[in-house]
Amino acid sequence: MAVRDEAAGLASEIAELRHAIHREPEIGLDLPKTQAKVLGALDGLPLEISTGRALSSVTAVLRGGRPGPVVLLRGDMDALPVTEETGLPYASAVPGVMHACGHDLHTATLAGAARLLSARRADLPGTVIFMFQPGEEGYAGARHMIGEGVLDVAGERPVAAYGLHVTSNRLPCGVFSTRPGPLLAAADQITVTVHGRGGHASQPHRAADPIPAACEMVLALQTLVTRKFDVFDPVVITVGAFHAGTTDNVIPDQARFLATARSYSASSRVLLADLVPRLVADIAAAHGLTADAEYATEYPVTVNDAAEAEFALQTVTEVFGAGRGERAEFPITGAEDFSFVLDEVPGAFVFLGACPPDHDPEAAPTNHSAVAIFDDAALAEGTALYAELALRRLARG
Ligand SMILES: [Zn+2]
Ligand SMILES: [Zn+2]
Repeated sequence: MAVRDEAAGLASEIAELRHAIHREPEIGLDLPKTQAKVLGALDGLPLEISTGRALSSVTAVLRGGRPGPVVLLRGDMDALPVTEETGLPYASAVPGVMHACGHDLHTATLAGAARLLSARRADLPGTVIFMFQPGEEGYAGARHMIGEGVLDVAGERPVAAYGLHVTSNRLPCGVFSTRPGPLLAAADQITVTVHGRGGHASQPHRAADPIPAACEMVLALQTLVTRKFDVFDPVVITVGAFHAGTTDNVIPDQARFLATARSYSASSRVLLADLVPRLVADIAAAHGLTADAEYATEYPVTVNDAAEAEFALQTVTEVFGAGRGERAEFPITGAEDFSFVLDEVPGAFVFLGACPPDHDPEAAPTNHSAVAIFDDAALAEGTALYAELALRRLARG
């Protein structure tokens, strides 16, 4: 039977697991209930299973009956601090926590792929590592799992790694999208504190007001983006938080703001880390103030290997037909910690449209929204792609 048909045969089982995970979402690196559900779903399969020490990850190794290379498939498992408002029958039963990024679908589809590939073990020419990862949403769970040895668990490094991400908007249901090269941005955090000297707001010359200087910094950061970076290697800086003072007639001692910096190349990232603190310090000095700027690197650029991205697109076309694979023209400005895996192993990260078929993908709520809906119709398709990528990549040797 074709892999796609086998995946379709598993659809209700995969949906059941997905709904169970969706009902009981967990945040961060410690997801004991989700981990237990994954272990339950893998129970009885011919897998070498290990769990994380510092995080509730699950690593499962399937050793095929024939010799061959190692391939890694990754699905993330964590939810977000969002109160669900979808009204779905399987909506979150945990107040303030929701699978608003669709990671419940990734976990369930990857478990489906483990079941599907396990049934083909005797003929499998190589080894598959299934990487069930906590803490994608800001906790760098992938980096922790690499630290605990997920890339070496099979005895040799994978020749390729693949990850899947559903989207509740943008792509029609069942359409896959990826591109060679940078796919997602690096995401870094800038924290700036401007130190002044407080006083009476009617006598600013007797104080050292940090607020105008901090405002200048916010605007100068936008100028920095346009004057110091190549427009064909884009950079985004957004100041998302700005805090100073308590009332109208008091000059505060301090102003503080937080910004995110997105970039698509290592060179731009190095330049940002160098220029931002200098700009901030020099503006402060121009006004007789001091300022601290902390540039914290978070997730690197998610870079698809060119050959692996082409292979993924070709696989989509062959398995699902022309029109189901989209070559994305541009990267997107989100970030992913699968980037840590792709820094070590060539591979590809692929988006899968999961917008309900009767919704307009352009108007549908985005991932992370309290009303984002991911349709079950994407589940079997995701499982089929995971399995086909592993089978075809192993067959290539
Ligand atoms: Zn997310
Ligand atoms: Zn996500």
